[in-house]
Amino acid sequence: MFKALLLTQNDDGVASAAITELSEDDLPSGGDVTVAVEYSTVNYKDGLCLSPKGGGLVRHYPHVAGIDFAGTVEASDDDRYKPGDKVVLTGWRVGEAHWGGYAQKARVKADWLVPLPEGLTTKQAMAVGTAGFTAMLAVMALEDHGLAPGHGEVLVTGAAGGVGSVATAILANLGYSVAGVTGRPETADYLRDLGAARIVPRVELNETVKRPLESETWAGCVDAVGGEMLARVLGQMKYGASVAAVGLAGGAALPATVVPFLLRGVNLLGIDSVMQPYENRLRAWERVARDLPMEKLESMVQPATLSDLPKLGADILNGQVKGRVVVDVN
Ligand code: NDP
Repeated sequence: MFKALLLTQNDDGVASAAITELSEDDLPSGGDVTVAVEYSTVNYKDGLCLSPKGGGLVRHYPHVAGIDFAGTVEASDDDRYKPGDKVVLTGWRVGEAHWGGYAQKARVKADWLVPLPEGLTTKQAMAVGTAGFTAMLAVMALEDHGLAPGHGEVLVTGAAGGVGSVATAILANLGYSVAGVTGRPETADYLRDLGAARIVPRVELNETVKRPLESETWAGCVDAVGGEMLARVLGQMKYGASVAAVGLAGGAALPATVVPFLLRGVNLLGIDSVMQPYENRLRAWERVARDLPMEKLESMVQPATLSDLPKLGADILNGQVKGRVVVDVN
């Protein structure tokens, strides 16, 4: 028997969560590796999956949410993994379409796992989680499109959130001058400690685009917010610079013009963490282990347990979680 935060639906289609004892027979079929989960985390998408309607992501109840987990292989029908191996899972719609990490056991496809990156513990891997992994993918995409330290300030939107905090710490460690946009002025010291050189109040950037081009300000941008903020930022990018579009915490619409693309050669780079091919996952995790200072990661983390998750899920959707959450499922 093991513990899980089980989501069940009532007759009105409203889901609620309760810590429940399950047996291995309750785990959905189709997986080939059973993992003793040690840690999980809370990403924005977890907030959606935990919400009363499952955020449009959860297809079937009862359901175990948790889009990320790290732990130890207990049993494996796949040659790539054997009992005792430490593994990490992010993406592949685990926690949405498949049962996820908010349980002491998970059974998943071997294809979805990566070996725990060298130099990281399972706890640190979950402090990174999908949010941090995606921040790394965004930085890699900006570099692949020519960004290098010394080109100018790099903007991070939603800076005090999960993606934003990790992006800030990685970029600062790589020698970039980071400007962090936040709607929470009280996080300014936290962001400076992560390495932000400048704090940009959210109000300066969340107004509708009035002029398609503003002064050329940013050499790159990791954008976790989308919406009007992304539209504004596009018009403020330097000639030939790139924005990595990661998130939609501020909205999915993009009320922009194409002018920054046409007159300034600005690039809008889409970042997806869910379906990333295996080789690129390994590359990104290696970069995380190398480029994210572990003491900075530590300073972002708040610990949690399974029983804290319903509240944390609501908090993250309200933009109230600072940095990253590590959930000890045991
Ligand atoms: P968080 O909630 O931790 O961070 C989002 C941050 O955005 C908040 O902390 C807040 O930062 C800011 N924010 C929130 N609401 C608004 C608003 N209305 N207007 C402007 N800023 C706002 O979430 P995550 O870091 O986990 O995820 C961030 C986004 O990235 C989400 O949309 C998520 O779905 C997406 N994502 C996408 C992935 C992909 O594969 N493409 C993978 C991971 C995440 P502050 O208080 O500093 O202003």
